[in-house]
Amino acid sequence: MTNLILFGPPGSGKGTQAEKIVNEFNLLHISTGDLFRYEMGNNTPLGQEAKSYIEKGELVPDEVTIGMLKNKVNANPDVNGYIFDGFPRNVNQAEALDEFLQGKRTEVSVLISLDVDEDEIVARILNRGKTSGRPDDNDESIIRNRFEVYLNETSPVFDYYDKKGKSVKVKGIGSIEEIFNRLCDEINKVC
Ligand code: UDP
Ligand code: MG
Repeated sequence: MTNLILFGPPGSGKGTQAEKIVNEFNLLHISTGDLFRYEMGNNTPLGQEAKSYIEKGELVPDEVTIGMLKNKVNANPDVNGYIFDGFPRNVNQAEALDEFLQGKRTEVSVLISLDVDEDEIVARILNRGKTSGRPDDNDESIIRNRFEVYLNETSPVFDYYDKKGKSVKVKGIGSIEEIFNRLCDEINKVC
């Protein structure tokens, strides 16, 4: 199995690139953010709980997110591997993911981080907000808070996998095709 963590700040292009990687490598794309939006769209109890955090740009509590992620993986066992997009969001989630995959006799192959600076992020997300219909994309203070949460809670996940020799950085500025080619070079090393 090839299990990728596609990593990087909000708006760094994870979702866009994950779609392209899926076509090339036949992996299952799991975006916890998309799963939450699906639940919110259906107004489920999980969606209602997630909403109160997402509208502030805070992280949804770990047990909720980890439980949802495990359900999605368990429901799709017959794949070549997974692309985790937007998860793990903190070190506790990373530890839970490792333990979960170990129980399935597999592991994270590589974490690839898309490197994009904060001003570019804010500009991209505000632009995306014109069409995404996402309230958390339309308010600069919420976007800045999401970036803060990324720096404080999520970026240590890079170091966590770096210590295991599994983290790489890829320049996240350029055309979609250029960035995709950079990602493919890294994925081919672990496939
Ligand atoms: N979120 C979360 N945990 C996750 C994924 C998403 O708490 O594992 C919440 C968080 O509030 C985040 C929002 O959902 O700001 C949107 O996440 P998503 O990954 O879709 O946004 P992106 O970072 O890709 O812009
Ligand atoms: Mg995303």
